[in-house]
Amino acid sequence: MKLPLILFYMLLLSCSITVTSQEVNVDERLKPHLNSFFAICNTYNIEYNYKLNELKNITIVDTLASSSKTATLGMLERDKSTKVENILVNWITMLDQQILKIVAFHEFGHYFLEYDQHTCEDCGNIMSVTNSSYFDIANDWENQVKILFEQSPAYLKKQNQLVSRIP
Ligand SMILES: [Zn+2]
Repeated sequence: MKLPLILFYMLLLSCSITVTSQEVNVDERLKPHLNSFFAICNTYNIEYNYKLNELKNITIVDTLASSSKTATLGMLERDKSTKVENILVNWITMLDQQILKIVAFHEFGHYFLEYDQHTCEDCGNIMSVTNSSYFDIANDWENQVKILFEQSPAYLKKQNQLVSRIP
């Protein structure tokens, strides 16, 4: 039996798609937060699919430094060429669902909203270096999310492109 050539090509194509597309592994416990983050990206027209597919893992780990005084609550892990491979969240954030959400949004902000820098040392924003009160942020959540997105490098870049396109 001869396989029609077109079918053969289609098979070949579907094989190559399966081989090349690499699925990012998203921790179930972070999925709801990632989904709500992406829903907000949609309202601001911020593209995230390409960046998402560049990652290997978005996950909760027990390997980040924690002591009684300070802890690394989350970080972006890079490969040798400094390309971000993994978004990591410290397991201790799971002790409080609000903290988990804030830390997740902070790390998503670094990566998807292109925050290379923090906005301040400890000013009560999602993108502060540290937060002495997660409670205050959680209580001001909608406003905090608005600040996070509207002051983000990714959003501001888009706004500038729009302005420069107007003759
Ligand atoms: Zn940070």
